[in-house]
Amino acid sequence: MISNKKALEMVDVIAEMFPNAECELKHDNPFELTIAVLLSAQTTDISVNKLTDKLFQKYKTPEDYLNVNISELENDIRTIGLYRNKAKNIQKLCKSLLDKFNGEVPQTHRELESLAGVGRKTANVVMSVAFGEPSLAVDTHVERISKRLGICRWKDNVRQVEDKLCKVVPRERWNKTHHQLIFFGRYHCLARSPKCDVCPLFEVCREGQKRYKANVKEA
Ligand code: SF4
Repeated sequence: MISNKKALEMVDVIAEMFPNAECELKHDNPFELTIAVLLSAQTTDISVNKLTDKLFQKYKTPEDYLNVNISELENDIRTIGLYRNKAKNIQKLCKSLLDKFNGEVPQTHRELESLAGVGRKTANVVMSVAFGEPSLAVDTHVERISKRLGICRWKDNVRQVEDKLCKVVPRERWNKTHHQLIFFGRYHCLARSPKCDVCPLFEVCREGQKRYKANVKEA
């Protein structure tokens, strides 16, 4: 694993590449953001945005989601993966919001994670994007690039990756860094075809070097 200093230098390069990175899930309030993040599991933000353009016109409050039959909600979100499970979780989440939090999205990690379908990543995103609380959510992109760059070990779990990044990056930068790392993974260091040939981190990236050597051998 590389030193924290080197890791932060890498994060700085990524920050320069994507200075304006931000949450790409469309939403107007913490409730819509929570639903959008829940819907985004194992699907793209683009698909979620296409869906929520209409969905958020029909469903504006937790009551709205509970006032329909589960099959109607399933039908309204069936364009995205895992829609049956997501419909079930949305209704459970809305019930908890009404029963325990007066219909409002709670503002602590512990309370957020008590909601159906809300894990640490979703709670981190909501805390950071909706409430401006310093959080560094680790999604599939953040995990992949942290490991490729050697900031974390391949065997590290998601929580270990989060803890390491939080040590490397100053707290006041956590929220912005989260989006910058996602953009880097989404638009540059892609899962299947990372753009190593034009990557400013190529010289210091062990994964990039490995891929380069493998390509040279094949040629
Ligand atoms: Fe990703 Fe390749 Fe850049 Fe490494 S060199 S960070 S694998 S794009």
